[in-house]
Amino acid sequence: MVATAPLDIPVIEPSSCVQEFLQSPRQIFINGKWQDAASGKTFPVYNPASGQEIAQVAEGDSEDIARAVAAARKVFDDPNHIWNTMTPSDRGKLIWRIGDLIMENLDELAELESLDNGKPMGVAKVADVPLSADLFHYMAGWTTKLEGNTIPISVPYAPGAKFHAFTMREPVGVVGQIIPWNFPLLMAAWKLGPALATGNCVILKPAEQTPLTALRLGEIIQEAGVPDGVVNIVTGMGETAGAALAVHDEVDKVAFTGSTEVGKMIVNAASGNLKKVTLELGGKSPNIIFKDNADLEATIAGAASAIFFNHGQCCCAGSRLYVEKDIFDDVVAGISAAAESIKLGPGLAGDTEMGPLVSDEQLNRVTGYMNAGQEAGATCITGGTRRGEQGYFVSPTVIKDARDDMSIVREEIFGPVVVAAPFDDIEEIISRSNDSPYGLAAGIWTNDIGKAHRTAARLRAGTVWINCYNIFDAALPFGGYKQSGWGREMGHEVLDLYTETKAVCLGL
Ligand code: NAP
Ligand code: MG
Repeated sequence: MVATAPLDIPVIEPSSCVQEFLQSPRQIFINGKWQDAASGKTFPVYNPASGQEIAQVAEGDSEDIARAVAAARKVFDDPNHIWNTMTPSDRGKLIWRIGDLIMENLDELAELESLDNGKPMGVAKVADVPLSADLFHYMAGWTTKLEGNTIPISVPYAPGAKFHAFTMREPVGVVGQIIPWNFPLLMAAWKLGPALATGNCVILKPAEQTPLTALRLGEIIQEAGVPDGVVNIVTGMGETAGAALAVHDEVDKVAFTGSTEVGKMIVNAASGNLKKVTLELGGKSPNIIFKDNADLEATIAGAASAIFFNHGQCCCAGSRLYVEKDIFDDVVAGISAAAESIKLGPGLAGDTEMGPLVSDEQLNRVTGYMNAGQEAGATCITGGTRRGEQGYFVSPTVIKDARDDMSIVREEIFGPVVVAAPFDDIEEIISRSNDSPYGLAAGIWTNDIGKAHRTAARLRAGTVWINCYNIFDAALPFGGYKQSGWGREMGHEVLDLYTETKAVCLGL
């Protein structure tokens, strides 16, 4: 692969507490015990800024998954276990404490995340880690509010009979959770927070590229006092550990975040025992800029951040930029200037604004799309190549003149690559925006409030941001229409997906 402009990457030593964490091989967490994989195997974890190995991690497989499921099952199936007898209020306090401990370890977690994933440490410190803590704090409050209903029933074939009917909310049971590498700690929080708030037991499988903060979170969960066996963390490969979790007959639900391709494999694997499945998958989100725009400068900055935040490794990245024709050239010039001003470097350097992609595999995937777009006739205005020879850096990239049927317009690239296209009118742009197998998110930029609402209502997407982008909150449900997923994460919507409703009917 050809790298164009060289990139000077300073070598920055991690702090002593992070070095200590990385020194010995990190183990799997089952039934409250840190242990080697049953096979004794480990796998390397790399710093994406240098390509150098930073740690060895236990490589769990189906045997470890079986042990973890058995531990979780034992807790869940024992009505006298402390996890099942503790009051909702006490469960809430435990979950709240996880959030507190995350904030107490903010610096270490942010550094570990940056080293493992490549993202700027400053970003992890203000976004990934505080959002993770906030998710646990938000979910802690729900433990005491999982109410059922009292239901007046009529029963036409039992005239005169009286009944007392009500519903109860119960945990689904043993839940397998499989997460990706783009927000490793935050994805663990999105999964664990609601599962614990609703009283489930969990087996978490982090991504092989970024297992470190999930393992540190395991220690925090232990320190918070969550009983042994309630949370189990098995590191390993998707094809072995992940697949074993998805197919396991004693698992009641699997919650997955990652590619749509693997999401479909999860659905197939889950069919054996018809476990519940929730999916948070890919996206190709339209970001629409109308010309009636009072502050074009702020809009351009917002649209640049919509694609370049987290190096474009966001399922909701605003990767299809649609701009009303009259202002197309100005917006594209502005976004290209923003792209060129982004400071690339290792996540641990204080002035880094964009780090490397997460892995060699992603580097090849993203540069592959950059090349495919140009070969198909699109124009690369800026970027379009790897940067430097070391680590997995690419230049933030702006492309125009692409046809709507090109792979760079239809497929998820998952890198800092935006494809910009002009449009003429609102009907045209709603239809082009919705012309996608995905439906995760969308952005609208306009000063016409009526147009903003009319457009938002017609976009087939789980989240629509108006005059903002990438705004996340524990209280705001997130998830996809179409092939972007099943179900929602966060908000109170997610609680329905971690509970079963039991209807109880008492003849009086
Ligand atoms: P992926 O393969 O879907 O990985 C997501 C998670 O699923 C990881 O923990 C992975 O394990 C696991 N997994 C992989 N194969 C599995 C299987 N057969 N059964 C059960 N679990 C399995 O995603 P990726 O390969 O890391 O990235 C590829 C593309 O996916 C990206 O370029 C991007 O387009 C998309 N993606 C989307 C999101 C999102 O948030 N929606 C996040 C990440 C990636 P291992 O990684 O340990 O093998
Ligand atoms: Mg994978």
